[in-house]
Amino acid sequence: MPGSVALIGGGPGAADLMTVRALRLLDQADVVYYDRLAPTDELAAWAPRARLVDVGKRPGHHRVPQEEINRLLVASARSGLRVVRLKGGDPFVFGRGSEEVSACRDAGIEVSVVPGITSAVSAPAAAGIPVTARGLSTSFTVITGHDPLSERALAALAHLGGTTVVLMGMGTLGHTAAGLVRHGMSPETPAGLVERGCTPDQRVCIAPLGRILLASAMAGIASPAVLVIGEVVRLAPGAEQRLRDLVQSA
Ligand code: SAH
Repeated sequence: MPGSVALIGGGPGAADLMTVRALRLLDQADVVYYDRLAPTDELAAWAPRARLVDVGKRPGHHRVPQEEINRLLVASARSGLRVVRLKGGDPFVFGRGSEEVSACRDAGIEVSVVPGITSAVSAPAAAGIPVTARGLSTSFTVITGHDPLSERALAALAHLGGTTVVLMGMGTLGHTAAGLVRHGMSPETPAGLVERGCTPDQRVCIAPLGRILLASAMAGIASPAVLVIGEVVRLAPGAEQRLRDLVQSA
């Protein structure tokens, strides 16, 4: 009997933000390949029969290369195992989920995808920031800040309106904020960083866009964090105060 692969979104990190389907598949799993952003504290109880393999890091802190993960998924399924690939957030939002699905399909392995709650929406929400709000923002754009945003992307975002959400954006925060202002976005535009949203370690940092890098450095905000830019940030509890204080001290 050939095995199968289920690509599961584990949500933003809180155990009770996993889906019922995710828990059911984990319960039946023979092997689980998991990432460091997925909720893992209770993984041994959720997947009682499974071998648990951390592919997010290795001794020496190197991630397992994507090709190797693809190979492991296919090899395990070929040997007849029920394989779960557990990822943080949603598997198809910057999770390289599509590459894993392709690898399975190319190998003729049955593969299913279980959506998860993406941090792009849930981390802002946990800080009281809705990505859309009637009268303030009627759209949101989710973009990766893993590599510095191009001038074209910065120019487009600066004039797009709505809410901008940047994932993997801590390393390029200064480039993004300065670039948006250079392309015409007001430095007074409200911006917020939500670190480890939806977890007990959640921290929030709110400042005008022109000062978000400084505010973030002062607060020591670190990855994983979501950057939110737009008027909706004003709706976070205490935001107006933070935005005023920083403008005055500028
Ligand atoms: N597939 C994931 C995103 C993977 S990219 C999802 O849908 O959420 C990894 C980035 O996600 C991190 O750099 C960070 O920007 C964001 N992220 C993931 N979990 C987060 C959390 N709990 N709080 C804030 N940001 C988070």
